[in-house]
Amino acid sequence: MRALVSNDDGIHSPGIEALERAAKAAGFETYVVAPDREQSATSHALTLHRPLRVVKTAERSWVVDGTPTDCVNLAICSVLRDVRPDFVFSGINQGPNLGDDVTYSGTVAAAFEGTLQGIPSIAFSLDYRRDQADTPPDFTHAEAMAEEVIRLALSRPMGADILWNVNIPAGRPAGIRATRMGRRRYGESVVEKIDPRGRPYYWIGGAHIDTHEDGSDLTTVAGGHVSVTPLHLDLTAYRALEDLADRLSGSHANGAS
Ligand code: MN
Repeated sequence: MRALVSNDDGIHSPGIEALERAAKAAGFETYVVAPDREQSATSHALTLHRPLRVVKTAERSWVVDGTPTDCVNLAICSVLRDVRPDFVFSGINQGPNLGDDVTYSGTVAAAFEGTLQGIPSIAFSLDYRRDQADTPPDFTHAEAMAEEVIRLALSRPMGADILWNVNIPAGRPAGIRATRMGRRRYGESVVEKIDPRGRPYYWIGGAHIDTHEDGSDLTTVAGGHVSVTPLHLDLTAYRALEDLADRLSGSHANGAS
């Protein structure tokens, strides 16, 4: 079995090495295609307006001057065309991707891209805040948990159009739980200051407002468990679709006169 390993923290992140080891321990031959620098919070961006450069750095390792999505797309459609991966693993991100983080996350987007390309994909993140910690992140437990989650993924098919978003608490986790996406909002974190030339500038900080509900990824990781949230590529709100169809059937907008 072959695994494509990527991330959004860049090729030099310790988290990508931990994930590569976890995948190897679970029986995979690993191929790394990762950004040449940090690309956190780039979401599902695809570079369309400039050429991308791919540099081979080792036997099965390449760096790309692009986004995590570029890496996964280029890997599957070009670099690894003749050795199509069986899985895509993204991470282990240096920081959590909980609740609404998934829509900003380059880590989750890499798994999203893998799933779009028809390959089962998993995003891994470690609950670590660099601005609050005075020590670098320790991926020891996260690596062991990543291997366990990979083995869980191998036990039966994950299902079409499904990716897993995995968040691992710092320290030794108490176990693994199935969760749903919680609510996290970056609402009041904009810092306004004046630059040395007297002009105002704005910096979006990392402060967030979380809603804690039973069974959510946020609550589960806060409680010391590994959170695995299955996400679906189809973002349609089906109940709202029925409501919208119902509204249209009673209005002139559908062509009725
Ligand atoms: Mn990151």
